[in-house]
Amino acid sequence: MPRGIKGLQKGHTLNVCVKNPISGKHSSKSTRVKRSESMVRYYQEHPEAIEEQRERSRGRHQTEKTKEKLRKINTGKHPTEATKEKIRNTLTGKFCGEKSPCFGKHLSKEHIEKIKKSLTGKQMPQGVKDKIRKTLSGKRRPKEVLEKIRGKNHYNYKGGITPLGVSIRNLPEGRQWRNKIFQRDNFTCQDCGARSGNGKAVILHPHHTPKAFADILSEFLEEYNQFSPYDDKDTLVRLAIKYQPFWDIDDGTTLCKRCHKKFHKRRKKLNEKEKE
Ligand SMILES: [Zn+2]
Ligand SMILES: [Zn+2]
Repeated sequence: MPRGIKGLQKGHTLNVCVKNPISGKHSSKSTRVKRSESMVRYYQEHPEAIEEQRERSRGRHQTEKTKEKLRKINTGKHPTEATKEKIRNTLTGKFCGEKSPCFGKHLSKEHIEKIKKSLTGKQMPQGVKDKIRKTLSGKRRPKEVLEKIRGKNHYNYKGGITPLGVSIRNLPEGRQWRNKIFQRDNFTCQDCGARSGNGKAVILHPHHTPKAFADILSEFLEEYNQFSPYDDKDTLVRLAIKYQPFWDIDDGTTLCKRCHKKFHKRRKKLNEKEKE
C-alpha cells in the first residue's frame, strides 16, 4: 500500500491526526501529482486492492463535515465534457432494468412515509425551477410525433371508452347515485370507519361493489352493441340514463380515498391473476 493512503486504514484515530506534525499542512502540487501517480500505479498492479478498498468503504457514509468540505470544493465546478463522457460510458446500461438495484423491489411503507415527510411543504428553489424551465422550454415533441400518439395510438389508450364512462358517471343521475350511497352509509368509510368532523376532512368516494363499474359498462355496451362508444357516445350516454344497473345503490358503497385506492389495487391484482 503506498504511503498516501495509509492514513485511511483502520486504526487511524483523530488523536493521531492532531499529534501528527504534518496535520493541517498541504503538500505541494508536484508531491500531490507524484502521490496520485504512484497510487494509480499501485492499483494497476494490485487490482484486488481496489475491491478491498471498496469492501472497506461499503455502507460507510461521509461525515457531515466532509460533505460540507466537498460541497465547498465542488460548488460552481462542472465536469469537463471528457469526464462526462467517461461517466456516461461507465454508467450506461449498468443500472437499467434487471440490473437496477430497485428491480422488482417495492419501497417499504416506512420508506414511502419518510420520502413523503421529507418532501411535504418543500419547494424547489427559484434557481432550480428556472433552470428546469430553461432546459424544457422549446423542447416540445414535434408535431408529427404528437400526431402519431393521438387518440387510439396513444400509449395510454385503453379502448376509448374512458370518456364515455366519465360522462356517464358525471350525469346528474350519477351524482344522485353517489349522494344516496353517502347518505345511506352516514358519510362514513365502510372499511376503516373514517368520517369528516372534529377538524378532520375525509375525502369520500363511491365505490362500485360487488360489480365493478367497468363490468357494468361493458355489459351495457354489449346490450347496445349497435352503437360505437366513440362515434355514438352521446347516444350511449342518453341510453345510460335509463340503464338501471348503473344506478342501483345496492351496487355501491362508501369508501375513503385511501381505502378506495386499496380496494382497486386488490381488484387489479385479482384481475391479473385471473388472466394468468
Ligand atoms: Zn377508509
Ligand atoms: Zn371504486
